[in-house]
Amino acid sequence: GCQKIINKLDEQLKKHEMDKEIQVVKTGCFGLCEAGPIVIVYPEGAFYSRVEEKDIERIAEEHLLKGRIVTDLLYKDAVVDGQIRSVDEVDFYKNQTRVALRNCGVINPESIEEYIAFDGYKALGKVLTEMKPEEVIDVIKQSGLRGRGGGGFPSGLKWDFTAKAQGDQKYVACNADEGDPGAFMDRSVLEGDPHAIVEAMAIAGYAVGASMGYVYIRAEYPIAVERLDIAIKEARKAGLLGENIFGTDFNFDMEIRLGAGAFVCGEETALINSIEGKRGMPRPRPPFPAVKGIWNKPTLLNNVETYANVPQIILKGADWFSSIGTEKSKGTKVFALGGKINNTGLVEIPMGTTLKEVIYDIGGGIPNGRAFKAVQTGGPSGGCITADYLDTPIDYDNLIALGSMMGSGGMVVMDEDNCMVDIARFFLDFTVEESCGKCPPCRIGTKRMMEILDRITEGKGEADDIEKLERLAENIKVSSLCGLGQTAPNPVLSTIKYFREEFEAHIHDKK
Ligand code: SF4
Repeated sequence: GCQKIINKLDEQLKKHEMDKEIQVVKTGCFGLCEAGPIVIVYPEGAFYSRVEEKDIERIAEEHLLKGRIVTDLLYKDAVVDGQIRSVDEVDFYKNQTRVALRNCGVINPESIEEYIAFDGYKALGKVLTEMKPEEVIDVIKQSGLRGRGGGGFPSGLKWDFTAKAQGDQKYVACNADEGDPGAFMDRSVLEGDPHAIVEAMAIAGYAVGASMGYVYIRAEYPIAVERLDIAIKEARKAGLLGENIFGTDFNFDMEIRLGAGAFVCGEETALINSIEGKRGMPRPRPPFPAVKGIWNKPTLLNNVETYANVPQIILKGADWFSSIGTEKSKGTKVFALGGKINNTGLVEIPMGTTLKEVIYDIGGGIPNGRAFKAVQTGGPSGGCITADYLDTPIDYDNLIALGSMMGSGGMVVMDEDNCMVDIARFFLDFTVEESCGKCPPCRIGTKRMMEILDRITEGKGEADDIEKLERLAENIKVSSLCGLGQTAPNPVLSTIKYFREEFEAHIHDKK
């Protein structure tokens, strides 16, 4: 419904002859999905939420014309004890640290001028005119940045491997094939700040010696595709892509490759196959993409959120970035907060923030007075975490120790009404559907697990079904070819670990 609101705002500004002094900026998502459509009026930062077309006249006549904030249209936390809080002061935003999402909801993503006005392409200028490629890699290494796509591999090391690999041609690639149920972090960055990815990939290209970049993006994200396409064209026109960028001898260009919605194409070797026009199936590793990637050339592959951090790290320095977060997990992480939670949306928090802070202080707790039961992180590769562990600081290692993982950033909250066997079944059903079929442990093993879960949820479970599930799961984990199969049993194993009694109740009570 946003476009209608924008049209109405334009109409009102013209009517009151304010269209020269007040600008309507159409931005990407600001993160608080449950309160949309959102209109923020600056300089006050007045935060109007759930705005309807009919509200615009009042906002124009009262706020824009007379300077009186329309309090009854403000977001629920934006008025406390009669005091008006700006958007930065409401509970949802005040505990966040926005690095990857810094421009989302702030600038017009279709305007290179706005990106430049917010220090855009300054980092690219800095690396090209002041730094050697190895110095850029050193900064990324020292920052402690780790891959935000799931694995958490140190990004600087990856950049270093690609830089040192032998090859007459090298590539950089961006994984924008976000496919976890409930995850929309990368989509929001591309829709809200596409130039950040263009700039970061050019920086990466300079650092590793690549002259070409590919963004592999789901075709189901049409707005992200469109805005990225506009950004690439604008950057080319401005001389920020192409030949002799910033007057140097550095040449770099980019193209978009559309994925057709296969989850497995988020796996790096399947993604490379798909970029090459082949069927998106994983290849055995090694060789790793840093040595043999796209068309067998050394390829640096990072995901959207990882790249989104890069320009800020270059501008503000490795020490600034590594001062945020925990000892082994530096910086921030974006999570898509969903499920049984009051403030559904996109949040970016410093690593080390506890699950409780995310779910209660930022997420606003569980709706309808229900009790918290579990939170699922890491999507189909992750697992569930129970109330006993709500004080756990979120970082790569802590989540793995609990039997889950960071993954790309899906965070689905469950309350006391959720059946955990159903949750396990939901995620396994997803991976059974998405298995590419190349290797038997994943193709056949997950199907057999699914059959067992089906009969358990239908009240036809057998006495040794839980042990069978565990045995199959362990075998699939160690013998599958790629990450999809290796992690597919995780949601089942973690629900058995923490909610075994629910599986037993289904089996023994036959319901
Ligand atoms: Fe395909 Fe699954 Fe094997 Fe990966 S683990 S190659 S998705 S069958």
